Amino acid sequence: MAERMLKFVTVPQQGPDKRDAAARRTDFDEIYDSFAPARAAQQASRCSQCGVPFCQVHCPLHNNIPDWLKLTAEGRLEEAYELAAATNTFPEICGRICPQDRLCEGNCVIERGYESVTIGAVERYITDTAWERGWIRPAAPRAENGMSVGIVGAGPAGLAAADHLRRLGYAVHVYDRYDRVGGLLIYGIPNFKLEKPIVLRRWEQYEAAGIVFHLNVEIGRDITLADLRARHESVLIATGVYKARDIGGPGVGLPGIVAALDYLTASNRHGLGETVPDFASGVLDARGKTVVVIGGGDTAMDCVRTAVRQGAASVKCLYRRDRANMPGSMREVKNAEEEGVEFVWLSAPEAFLGDAAVTGVRAIRMRLGLPDASGRQTVEPVEGGHFSVPADLVVKALGFDPEDLPDAFAEPELKVTRWGTLKIDHRSCMTSLPGVFAAGDIVRGASLVVWAIRDGRDAAAQMHAWMRQNAAIAVAAE
Ligand code: FAD
Ligand code: SF4
Ligand code: SF4
Repeated sequence: MAERMLKFVTVPQQGPDKRDAAARRTDFDEIYDSFAPARAAQQASRCSQCGVPFCQVHCPLHNNIPDWLKLTAEGRLEEAYELAAATNTFPEICGRICPQDRLCEGNCVIERGYESVTIGAVERYITDTAWERGWIRPAAPRAENGMSVGIVGAGPAGLAAADHLRRLGYAVHVYDRYDRVGGLLIYGIPNFKLEKPIVLRRWEQYEAAGIVFHLNVEIGRDITLADLRARHESVLIATGVYKARDIGGPGVGLPGIVAALDYLTASNRHGLGETVPDFASGVLDARGKTVVVIGGGDTAMDCVRTAVRQGAASVKCLYRRDRANMPGSMREVKNAEEEGVEFVWLSAPEAFLGDAAVTGVRAIRMRLGLPDASGRQTVEPVEGGHFSVPADLVVKALGFDPEDLPDAFAEPELKVTRWGTLKIDHRSCMTSLPGVFAAGDIVRGASLVVWAIRDGRDAAAQMHAWMRQNAAIAVAAE
């Protein structure tokens, strides 16, 4: 055991510096600074090198955390990077946006009494350093294998699979209906959590590796799934989930009530230098407005914090449960509060006020009841607990469901679960259509980037096994 490790008793936890909230409110830059080299080594040295590392068990990618922490503490950064990259396609992205408090860091055994190792920040530091020093090279194969794959969706699941399959020598074609690569990494997640050049440089590398992107191409509209199956040896569906859950109630159709992803996409496109008509006209811009965001997940947190940065007059978040029971990451709630967001816990909207446009939300107070079958406390309205809040921009952030893919792809044989997600064989990652695989949110439902990466890597391995077997059968038949 290196003398450098086990420093958690003497070295306190010190995360990366966070910019002052007043400064954060005025721009869309990331809020956490990178570690300086000395601090990264010092913080990595706090790890106690557990025999059974629960951090690794609870990382969806089973990253070899203790080993890359040790290498970082010893200053062996290139080796640390090689190890981090062996299990994670985008360590610099996960280091920034994984909810570490629920995953690796939340399960670090030194947490009680001594705060956890700052795993995410070290992972980010290692990989940012690797980019700076040119250690990250295009995923070009040693030899082409003569087979091709079609991947539908350039989000993290599709990209993780593309990376893996390209290294194995496949001609990889990625189709996406958007004009840029990255899926929700580029158009959903705001710049202050993940700066866009970090995603764009990966896109450049993939093109340099020979991956072909067919952008502005929607499968089901511009090309059929049947066409793709005819073009490629196998196909991966990684289309994510985009159907926004809606809300009822009088006045819900009033102008000024918008969907979260429309709002966030407009902000991200504006940040990328585009002219977005609905942003320019003010429909999707919170500047000077009294904003109410409805919902308690990470999307809601991104909306409230975007509105603050756009210069809203005030920003409230209405959520029907309390702080302890909200699905969003506590770290993001704290960041939002620091930036001036007001949370109105235990409140649910009943109606939207206004004539020509929304002017307010009528809501009702809720209280927590007994746990339901899932163990989660139910909520019920408090009699007479009606109240109103003013609003001239209401953002609905209530989650996402899958679109009807069998219908969109004109493939009635493509089987879905009762939630509308794609049904796969969880060992082979294959859908009900032979040679068509699926990964990411379209299988799991709205989830996390780290799970999309894991699913994309798993699906790629299964596609490879299936194509090799099929190729062998074809050769044998000749
Ligand atoms: P996506 O990223 O959704 O990518 C799917 C791609 O498929 C898109 O590019 C889409 O254009 C394309 N596509 C869809 N249909 C078609 C079609 N018919 N033809 C061609 N292309 C198509 N996760 C975290 O871990 N941390 C966070 O902080 C976080 N914040 C989030 C904030 C917001 C606002 C949202 C909405 C999600 C957030 N998530 C976060 C969740 C995370 O972004 C997703 O779990 C992840 O992106 C899923 O990856 P995916 O590849 O399955 O799908
Ligand atoms: Fe933690 Fe996410 Fe990195 Fe895994 S990928 S070690 S969960 S930050
Ligand atoms: Fe190190 Fe914490 Fe992981 Fe143990 S659980 S190996 S202390 S990071």
